[in-house]
Amino acid sequence: MTYNPDNVFAKILNGSMPCNKVYEDDYALAFHDINPQAPVHVLVIPKGPYESMDDFSKNAPVDLICGFFSAVGQVARELGITEDGYRMLANHGADANQEVPHFHIHLFAGRNLGMLLPR
Ligand code: AMP
Repeated sequence: MTYNPDNVFAKILNGSMPCNKVYEDDYALAFHDINPQAPVHVLVIPKGPYESMDDFSKNAPVDLICGFFSAVGQVARELGITEDGYRMLANHGADANQEVPHFHIHLFAGRNLGMLLPR
């Protein structure tokens, strides 16, 4: 697949769409999910044109991979969710029902999140 530069997170990154920002550095941008599934539901996206975890892990430069995952941890600390706990999740592709084709990590927190997968 080819990265679609018109996807909603690309537009947030280039400033043509707004977001409710919680964190930004050279490698990552984090903002509140528009349709939260937990009391805290934040998305962290890398600053680069990667459509999913597969693309990112295969094609992103090492400094971006390191900077991005470091930023995810920093976002969690700044949100104050490390003590009670949080879940991080990334959907890749059709079986995971990935909706937005720009790699992103969901951070969920603020209540007991139950089992990982519904049965
Ligand atoms: P995924 O299924 O992993 O691709 O998740 C995409 C997520 O992006 C969903 O949780 C949506 O609610 C969220 N989302 C879609 N558009 C926006 C937006 N403009 N601002 C914030 N979150 C969004």
